[in-house]
Amino acid sequence: MVPGASHPKDPMTDYDEQSFKFLTENSADMIFRCDFTPKFTYVSPSSLRLLGKAPEEFVGLHPSSAVFAEDIVIVRKHIEALSKPGAEPSNVAVRFFHKNGSLVWMEVSARTIEDPETGQPKEMILVARDLTERKKLEDQLLAMAMTDGLTGLANRRAFDAELERQWTQVASECSQVSLVLLDIDHFKKFNDEYGHLAGDDCLRVVGAAVKSAVRAADVVARYGGEEIAIILSSTDPSQAIIVAEAVRKAVESLNIPHAGNPEGGSKVTISLGVATALARAGGAIRMPESLVLSADKALYMAKSEGRNCVRKVMMMAAPSKPTEA
Ligand code: GH3
Ligand code: MG
Ligand code: MG
Repeated sequence: MVPGASHPKDPMTDYDEQSFKFLTENSADMIFRCDFTPKFTYVSPSSLRLLGKAPEEFVGLHPSSAVFAEDIVIVRKHIEALSKPGAEPSNVAVRFFHKNGSLVWMEVSARTIEDPETGQPKEMILVARDLTERKKLEDQLLAMAMTDGLTGLANRRAFDAELERQWTQVASECSQVSLVLLDIDHFKKFNDEYGHLAGDDCLRVVGAAVKSAVRAADVVARYGGEEIAIILSSTDPSQAIIVAEAVRKAVESLNIPHAGNPEGGSKVTISLGVATALARAGGAIRMPESLVLSADKALYMAKSEGRNCVRKVMMMAAPSKPTEA
């Protein structure tokens, strides 16, 4: 360096060091500085509160070593992008390891600080904010949006999404899925006799009985007013009939009085329709709507053939690929 020439500025001298410290050390967020080796060169004290580790435990480490294995690719991609001149600030949600072994969702905003002399990227400043509460709230809201408020079963929206998802899988594997649609017998008369609130209670109890009569993985949804749908994955027609019959018996043996249902022994009963969709090349049936229509047809048969019984419709050959909407 020529004596008297102006000293090239360290980018950090551009920030007022004291203000920087004041901001980082009083921030609820965690602030990192990171060079492009890449290694952490500074971590703010909030790391102790957020991740249970003192700043010194991070300094000198590669940023990937602080995050969950599945998120390392994202971290590397962002660092690579930030290392290019003129890089835009980035934002990413990743899981950090807490010292106690748990994972902490954090939203990380990162920007590049360039060397004022060369314009080359010199280091990154990262601000990490705890997203755990937000993620928890998002999960709760999502669960609420997919749950029927009265019965606690999956709602119609969740049913539609799940059937679509399962059918895509069935089509790609050329396998099968069965659907059971059930409906409480003479439920209007139940409400008329015992009142709407008792009707609500009856729906809750029937929903719980149906749920406990099937496998935990089977999706049980409130399809409509007093109609419940059960998606039986990888289940053939004969197995589906056995499950439907077990569900019918489970509801009957609740022994809920229902004076308006003499043909069901004056207790609450259900009628059930079963349909199975097979994915086979060359099939031309619109799916998964046809599965619902077929189960509904079978349910109608059960109603007209005396109620408190199970009916099925013939298996359907369906296309091996989902049809376009
Ligand atoms: P069926 O045996 O042919 O099914 O006769 P049903 O009386 O059950 O059929 P219908 O479709 O005529 O009546 C359905 C009744 O279900 C009418 C409606 O008030 C009642 N219902 C639908 N949703 C609810 C609910 O959330 N709570 C209560 N209490 N009743 C409901
Ligand atoms: Mg009914
Ligand atoms: Mg009905």
